[in-house]
Amino acid sequence: MRVQLLEAAIDGINMQETVKKISSFIEKGDKPKSVVTLNPEYLYRAQSERSWLDLVNNADLVTPDGAGIVWACKMAGTPVPERVTGIDLMLNLMPLAEKHGWGVYLLGAAPGVAEEAAANLKKQYLALNIVGAHHGYFPPAEEQEVVAQIAAAKPHLLFVALGMPRQEQFIAKYKEQMQVPVSMGVGGSLDVIAG
Ligand code: UDP
Repeated sequence: MRVQLLEAAIDGINMQETVKKISSFIEKGDKPKSVVTLNPEYLYRAQSERSWLDLVNNADLVTPDGAGIVWACKMAGTPVPERVTGIDLMLNLMPLAEKHGWGVYLLGAAPGVAEEAAANLKKQYLALNIVGAHHGYFPPAEEQEVVAQIAAAKPHLLFVALGMPRQEQFIAKYKEQMQVPVSMGVGGSLDVIAG
């Protein structure tokens, strides 16, 4: 069920159902899908920036990322089950990625961080198939090169940590070109996983 909050459509499903939905996106593998984890700061900015709101409403799955969003949905009379944050969702997808051999690509954060995050994930999920990593400090002129590298690596899951809304813009702009089954923005998650 989709819930409307301040003109943003949010999927009213819990973590487990969200993971299931993403798995089905990958298994079906029809069109590349995008996931936005919507936090209160983003939704606030989206009230005055139409393009931010469009990025949310054009995504295939939108999760309530933060207690403030869950609370506001409840107050509006359209409750959502629970908070589904970017990092939690990313970490919940890892065991499945390992089990099914899904390729994972990590894009973003300072040079070296994505590689460190990859190494830490591999320590926990030994068979995890990380097919690529790239930092997030490339100029617009190098975007095409990065996009080509991602497309060539053929991941099933692309995690983009470029900050909001750049990560959402990047995914929307290059989704078709990259042909990754599922892409999602994860904010500061790579820094957290890298430790
Ligand atoms: N980041 C990046 N390139 C940039 C700006 C930011 O890769 O041009 C990375 C930054 O290093 C961090 C992540 O994006 O790992 C999220 O940044 P921030 O915490 O500012 O964004 P938010 O979590 O608010 O979306």
